[in-house]
Amino acid sequence: MKNQLLEKWFFIFVSSENKEYKQKNMNRDFFLILVICSFFTASAQFSQERQDSLALRNLYDMSLLNGKSYSWLEHLSNDIGGRLSGSVEAERAVQYTKAELEKLGLDKVWLQPVMVPKWTRGQAEYAYVQTAGNTNTVNIVALGGSVATPATGLRAQVIEVQGLEDLKNYGKEQIEGKIVFYNRPMRPELIHTFQAYGGCVDQRYSGAEEAAKYGAAGVIVRSLSHKLDEHPHTGSMSYGDLSNDQRIPAAAISTKDAEYLSSMLKLDKDLQFYYKMSCKNYPDVQSHNVIGEITGSEFPNEIIVVGGHLDSWDLGDGAHDDGAGVVQSMEVLRLFKETGIRPKRTLRVVLFMNEENGLRGGNKYAEVAKINGENHIFALESDSGSFTPRGFSFDATNAQFEQVESWKSLFKPYLIHYFEQGGSGADIGPLENGTTVLAGLRPDSQRYFDYHHAATDTFEAVNKRELELGAATMASLVYLVDKYGFNSIEMEQPLKD
Ligand SMILES: [Zn+2]
Repeated sequence: MKNQLLEKWFFIFVSSENKEYKQKNMNRDFFLILVICSFFTASAQFSQERQDSLALRNLYDMSLLNGKSYSWLEHLSNDIGGRLSGSVEAERAVQYTKAELEKLGLDKVWLQPVMVPKWTRGQAEYAYVQTAGNTNTVNIVALGGSVATPATGLRAQVIEVQGLEDLKNYGKEQIEGKIVFYNRPMRPELIHTFQAYGGCVDQRYSGAEEAAKYGAAGVIVRSLSHKLDEHPHTGSMSYGDLSNDQRIPAAAISTKDAEYLSSMLKLDKDLQFYYKMSCKNYPDVQSHNVIGEITGSEFPNEIIVVGGHLDSWDLGDGAHDDGAGVVQSMEVLRLFKETGIRPKRTLRVVLFMNEENGLRGGNKYAEVAKINGENHIFALESDSGSFTPRGFSFDATNAQFEQVESWKSLFKPYLIHYFEQGGSGADIGPLENGTTVLAGLRPDSQRYFDYHHAATDTFEAVNKRELELGAATMASLVYLVDKYGFNSIEMEQPLKD
């Protein structure tokens, strides 16, 4: 529209000014040249925009009409299953994704060795609440990394607290020998559910370490979910510097049973809680990051990474977290191949191992990149579930972010509008160096924590269209970054003639 107006105005201007031009008015002459230049600049910009919008349309078409992400996810979820680091399933996922990347005809596919922790859940956990004359079983799962209970189980009184800082209100006298029950819920009024998660996750991660300092016998943590249901949500935890004999067993309890336990405690503060877990920590084992790349045609030394994490928790099949991110990242490279876009920069897919309970894959990738002196200009991670994509968040300088924002209108037809600064992805975090732009795909997050780290995180919970839209959205941003680079980085390069 803007361009059509400009064209019209230019036409009127040229016809009316022709007579004066004959009078050799130098000022007008100069002005005319300026107008012609700006006309051609605007026109070039217009055709560039048109080219970009067509390229994006192609990427979305290819993903929605002929996508591979959903069938890859089906195999990862249903044929392989949950992919806890160090498990047979995790290794099968390494081999499967490597083989699938090889089929895409990339320039290079390889495995990057990384040592990962190995923890197993053992037999299904068992727990009950006992009051005078009443015994009710409750749903719990061990937190990843927890020690087991004694073989006969652990039985003790319970003390309910509302977060780590609440421990000091009770002190050692009231906590010693008891099971600490962390019951601070995720705040429902927060629109960004990751923020609500962030406000509670310390109970899960450091709850056992902190409670052990007060002499607690064990900890039970309310599951990190808004949804009131019977599914407990696991997740990583740490004992910090505690010695082996100070470590106490830690479990998550379903939100419904957390409510039940809390209400029973109000009736009978001396009730007994019993739980039994046989989880176990083993020495580290060898695993791999899976990497594939299309080498850049003009700037092969400028690397763009797109990735997700291959490992998952063991309760479901890890379809949302993060099978989706894995197959979307693989799909980005496939979309480039299928639509015939030869990237100018090197485009690399990295399927990271061990995000959930160690981040070893992310750390290893960044460490090797540094040793090899690689120049990563951009990394994009998908690890927020496979829901309708809304946009991206960026860890970038203001200038870099402004450049990304200038592309926003191209995403409008696809209802992608969320471009914000702050936050990218755990696995790509170690690449942060002040110049590499980091980004995370941001899908709608309202339902994510219904599934996150629970038995409900399965293939059936993923919507095919949402998955494919996410892959195309990622490919679109990668296309633009590849085509234009980042101003701040390009300015440092010698000028070409
Ligand atoms: Zn994840």
